[in-house]
Amino acid sequence: MSAVLPSIFFTESRLDRATHLRECPEQLKRLAQKKKTHYLPVYTGRHLYTRPGQQLWVMDEPVPGSVPCFLGILDDELWFACPLDSDQAKALEAQTGSRFTSLRRSALRLDSQQAHIAMYSRGLDLWQRNRRYCSRCGTPNRVHSAGHRLLCQQGHEQFPHIEPAIIVLISKGDRCLLSRKANWPPNVYSTLAGFVEPGETIEEAVKREMLEEANIQVTDIQYQGSQPWPFPASLMLAFTATAINEDIRLDDELEDVQWFSRSDLKNAIERGLVSIPPRFTVAHSLIDAFLRRA
Ligand SMILES: [Zn+2]
Repeated sequence: MSAVLPSIFFTESRLDRATHLRECPEQLKRLAQKKKTHYLPVYTGRHLYTRPGQQLWVMDEPVPGSVPCFLGILDDELWFACPLDSDQAKALEAQTGSRFTSLRRSALRLDSQQAHIAMYSRGLDLWQRNRRYCSRCGTPNRVHSAGHRLLCQQGHEQFPHIEPAIIVLISKGDRCLLSRKANWPPNVYSTLAGFVEPGETIEEAVKREMLEEANIQVTDIQYQGSQPWPFPASLMLAFTATAINEDIRLDDELEDVQWFSRSDLKNAIERGLVSIPPRFTVAHSLIDAFLRRA
């Protein structure tokens, strides 16, 4: 299965995750002493950035007291994330004079390699942070496998938790269907999306969500690509689909759903009457691909 969309932000990376090293702490330690190694502090999924370059702020040594999590090897250099607690984060902010900032604000200033590493470390940190205690027995979890496995005092294992979501550009002729939620910034319209439910295939999820959210039946569902989306734990599965009917009926989740012709949408964007999500989102890639289609 290969992505159809030409580029999806956060997914272009040369990083080798070198997963075999996660269970080899001694080998990893020796490698880290021999090769250039970067330790990336991360706190509540946020990072520090250098100014004025706005690249990720990294250290040559782990943050004291943190448990470094192995991310992988990029261009023969090792990368670790250092998830921090609030005291460690405050101390580092005081030391560097900068604040932990959301990836949403900084993503487009990063090169593709750093953007991928930031996204990956964010997902790992948020997973560990939200799983402090075992969900089965309530005892504290400890980090194993260089950050990729949690184990409680009773020996219950947990691996990173990912929530698959579908996101769909529905079209009919030269029109596409976009929606907005009430809490979005004014004039922002995007593709429809929703979570895959237990026991459901992704194709069924596409059909169900489009019917629930807008009363639109779809056919010709085509996979376009995927994007890790750790806000906090999603994997976006992007599709195009063709609408069978056109009569929209809104559900409570959305403030508005509209059909836009290609030319009307282009004009509205140019005149600032409609905004689409930022370039680092797969929604942007889907809408952009639709607008470029002849
Ligand atoms: Zn347990």
